[in-house]
Amino acid sequence: MSTVETDFDVVIVGGGMVGATLACALADSPLRVALIEAQAPQFEWPANGFDLRVSALTRATQHIFEALKVWRAMVDQRVSPFREMHVWDAGGKGAIHFDSAEIGEPYLGHIVENRVILAALYARLEAVANVELMSSTRLKRLDLDGEYASVTTESGRTLSAELLVAADGSRSWVRQQAHISVRGWDYNQEAIVTYVKTERYHKQTAWQRFLPEGPLAFLPLSNGFSSIVWSTSPVHAQNLLAMDDVAFAEALSSSFEHTLGTVAEVGPRASYPLRFFDAQSYVGNHLALVGDAAHTMHPLAGQGVNLGLADVASLAEIIIETQRGSQSIGAAGTLRRYERWRRSENTAVLATVNGFQRLFGSRSPVIRWLRSSGMNFTHGLSPVRNLIMRQAMGMTADQPTLSRGIKL
Ligand SMILES: Cc1cc2nc3c(=O)[nH]c(=O)nc-3n(C[C@H](O)[C@H](O)[C@H](O)COP(=O)(O)OP(=O)(O)OC[C@H]3O[C@@H](n4cnc5c(N)ncnc54)[C@H](O)[C@@H]3O)c2cc1C
Repeated sequence: MSTVETDFDVVIVGGGMVGATLACALADSPLRVALIEAQAPQFEWPANGFDLRVSALTRATQHIFEALKVWRAMVDQRVSPFREMHVWDAGGKGAIHFDSAEIGEPYLGHIVENRVILAALYARLEAVANVELMSSTRLKRLDLDGEYASVTTESGRTLSAELLVAADGSRSWVRQQAHISVRGWDYNQEAIVTYVKTERYHKQTAWQRFLPEGPLAFLPLSNGFSSIVWSTSPVHAQNLLAMDDVAFAEALSSSFEHTLGTVAEVGPRASYPLRFFDAQSYVGNHLALVGDAAHTMHPLAGQGVNLGLADVASLAEIIIETQRGSQSIGAAGTLRRYERWRRSENTAVLATVNGFQRLFGSRSPVIRWLRSSGMNFTHGLSPVRNLIMRQAMGMTADQPTLSRGIKL
């Protein structure tokens, strides 16, 4: 246990889905926690429509939320289970289909609006005594060189802690201040997001068609609506954004081969540039990086926030164990354990997602033939398909305790 007096044990910078989940995981422990978020959280929204940003949550993520007692609040708001996944290739004849019934599971995961996730996490934090929530708070200074970490807000308050956690997203200010570099690149794609109502029901299936310029996904929402993530070249994305609703609906229907009939209604549209990176180190002096501050990837496999929440589950487990053993939670040895635990899984998932992105982005006839054959071959082998399904559901070997639904 550190003998240095600090204001907090853990200061988390960034109250997005990942940072807020970490605060919930440390709630009701003896630790003194601060959660600093630059924006004002949004708890109310119009009754009609959906959040443009949704997440496909794995079963492992659902287990984390169940263990933290926030899943029920999400279900009460609105979540959409998906039982099947259908993926096919526009540049060939390859297709693959996953069905949760084949592995005796009722569903593969859930599509949940990001605002529903955040509202449930913040409602939980409101009721917690050991977490100080500081929203609409901007930071101007970070100091990691001493015996503890400290940050100073723009209004002049300084907070010291044994451990500072960077959960401030892909452009992480904390990571930059700590001079931790990243390995990565821009995908040269943007993701257009919106929600639509289709002529035919989505059958609780997540659909994804790989087009030459990027994947187009229809993710099932309630009342027959689907959330759209259409990754494409920046020029094409700008054209799609500039279209009126009728032209956009037509472009969307035909690019999706009218698989769910025509697109009848479309919501507002937004776009996000896509990039990949992995931080050279997930830890520093009294510092740990989690979620998109540590790694960012293409949304084609819907793994980004799931991986970030697995970071949180692992880090929270190490922090709680270390505190129970009266050891220092900010010590280099404690943080190295976190780095070792997360590095191997994250590297494997990031490499797989990049591999898919390259494979499906290729226009070479040989690669197109290979990927079609590969998809059809995998589709024909049910043990391989079942293994992929279990991996995609987050059911991996070295799962942290929270990911198995068990409270710390
Ligand atoms: C189009 C699209 C679709 C996606 N779909 C999926 C999906 O289906 N499944 C999935 O698993 N992942 C998906 N992802 C990835 C997922 O959205 C991210 O992995 C996830 O949002 C990362 O969460 P985070 O909390 O780490 O970062 P963020 O969501 O970026 O949150 C960071 C928070 O930190 C705050 N902040 C930033 N700087 C500071 C500062 N200096 N001080 C204080 N606060 C600060 C921000 O205001 C924000 O609230 C998708 C991504 C995109 C772009």
